[in-house]
Amino acid sequence: MNQQDYIAREDKYGAHNYHPLPVVLDKGEGVYVWDTDGKKYFDFLSAYSAVNQGHCHPRIISALTEQAQKLTLTSRAFYNSSLGEYEEFVTKYFGYDKVLPMNTGAEADETAIKLCRKWAYKVKGIEQNKAKIIVAENNFHGRTVTIISMSTDPDAYNHYGPFTPGFVQIPYNDLAALENELKDPNVAGFLVEPIQGEAGVYVPDEGYLKKAYDLCKANNVLFIADEVQTGIARTGKLLAVDWEGVKPDILILGKALSGGVLPVSAVLANNEIMLTIKPGEHGSTFGGNPLAAKVAIAALTVVKEEKLAENAQRLGEIFRTQMRAIQSDMIELVRGKGLLNAVIIKPKNGKEAWDVCVEMAKHGVLAKPTHGHIIRFAPPLVINEEQLMEAVSKIKDAILTFE
Ligand code: PLP
Repeated sequence: MNQQDYIAREDKYGAHNYHPLPVVLDKGEGVYVWDTDGKKYFDFLSAYSAVNQGHCHPRIISALTEQAQKLTLTSRAFYNSSLGEYEEFVTKYFGYDKVLPMNTGAEADETAIKLCRKWAYKVKGIEQNKAKIIVAENNFHGRTVTIISMSTDPDAYNHYGPFTPGFVQIPYNDLAALENELKDPNVAGFLVEPIQGEAGVYVPDEGYLKKAYDLCKANNVLFIADEVQTGIARTGKLLAVDWEGVKPDILILGKALSGGVLPVSAVLANNEIMLTIKPGEHGSTFGGNPLAAKVAIAALTVVKEEKLAENAQRLGEIFRTQMRAIQSDMIELVRGKGLLNAVIIKPKNGKEAWDVCVEMAKHGVLAKPTHGHIIRFAPPLVINEEQLMEAVSKIKDAILTFE
């Protein structure tokens, strides 16, 4: 089969809910992926920051294969010998009393919303069914009906109503709007991405997260951080909130929690919040399975042992400097933190971000446009400086073909 055959087959038998670049990948290792013709690429998307530890990291794969031969799934009807080990590991790693394991990021967000509401009724004392959660415009928390009920993106919500009530939308990076909404005593939580990833890597003003956190505290409102994309070393710290010394009341993680090996997500909180959910009130067949537990321990161990946060911080600075130095009027703006970066593309002669991505793929670098004119650059965090500079040179060559 050639690449066109693979593409035609997906097109024929798969739902058309994605619009991939015309590249068919077959193999991955570290920062590289190969297509079915054997062409090698730098992966500058990292499965939307799930593959922070690099493709098929040997330590994570070894944990996976070892556990896969022993026990994969028991459901939570019984105890298993791996879950407690993971729970102790992950709670100590992030500094919380308890973890609630789920699978996808969206499920973890849903869990956090339920947890916040439960806390609102059981601890804060909000009248039943009156709790509100403040969210930011242009948020991305996943694709479930409740989550798209918070969305301001018509592509996400159009024709999927009726929607879940109980959300208040305010502009991102707007403390006055937050302060104003927090006056409502029925507000239970503020759910926010420390950097808006899907929206196009919007980095809020310095101090925003800390001040938002302080405002929440002053109003007895839970500060809930969705670090599904920004967490686990991506932005140059273990968590993006660490840049401002904020400790969220509820922390949501996914993606790189497994190094991109399995869907593994988690919600972390202290006892006062987490223990409001009682047996039988929430769960998931696969959440907390032994395979996921062992994989997540390995994935988080790699992050610390290989100093991925430090690497992301250092190479991120270099990447942004290099991008800003490219002499092309197609580059309107470069922004980001650590190795979560975006380049805003100004169309030229009818050529847009999509065309730039297609050209970059020809040069051996994979990235994907978001919202038409923004290209996100997020390589695996195991990338070294030499590899980064090689990729930068390919990106530059690709962009300069439009001059
Ligand atoms: N939250 C954030 C901040 C995300 O970026 C994403 C996915 O991109 C999600 C939640 C949803 O994660 P998943 O696709 O695993 O459901």
